[in-house]
Amino acid sequence: MSLQENYNNIKKQLPQNVELVAVSKTHSVSAIQEVYDFGQKVFAENKVQEIMEKHPLLPKDIQWHLIGHLQTNKVKYIAEFIDTIQSVDSEKLLNEINKEAAKNKRKIKVLLQVKIAEEDSKFGLEISEADNLFQKFISGDFPNVEITGLMGMATFTDDKNQIKKEFSVLKNVFTKLNEKHSLKTLSMGMSDDFPIAIECGANSVRVGSAIFGRRDYTN
Ligand SMILES: *Cc1c(COP(=O)(O)O)cnc(C)c1O
Repeated sequence: MSLQENYNNIKKQLPQNVELVAVSKTHSVSAIQEVYDFGQKVFAENKVQEIMEKHPLLPKDIQWHLIGHLQTNKVKYIAEFIDTIQSVDSEKLLNEINKEAAKNKRKIKVLLQVKIAEEDSKFGLEISEADNLFQKFISGDFPNVEITGLMGMATFTDDKNQIKKEFSVLKNVFTKLNEKHSLKTLSMGMSDDFPIAIECGANSVRVGSAIFGRRDYTN
């Protein structure tokens, strides 16, 4: 299938209120440009090096998201242009993003990445930690950061009930935090599980291989 067919196929499965984040990691600048030309404006990468190489070569109105684990010492390289950092998994990182955003006289949008998968995943906040960070944000810590929502990844499994259970946990956390301070984005679901994520309340999905095709190496 062509990029255009893949893209149309995904778009038609998304309800109007669900944002599509096109995950372009490992794919070429020309493939990204092509998908941009279909009207896609939001793209995500998981590596600082790669996003730094690609973004100067592509249209200025692309909203770049970072979705991979981010080391604090690398925040400075993306602080000037990144639209949203979806993978905030520690207070230390949030502090650093706040500091670098201030240096650039801007606000950076972030999502708190919450650990919901049963499998042993290295990154992500415990629910209590996310709650705690959000409380600090509401109290005025991190003035150059805007926590706009939550991000989560389900266990890599064929068991739909397991995936559903994990997404539902995050949806509940989202609902609870949203009562304290309005949140916009619940980012869950990738190529293989985005329909389940939407069923469970996601309003943003991160789709890579179903648009761009398989990646040559796993990331
Ligand atoms: C790679 C990646 C995706 C997209 O995965 P696909 O299965 O290719 O759609 C989504 N979210 C994160 C955090 C990723 O690293």
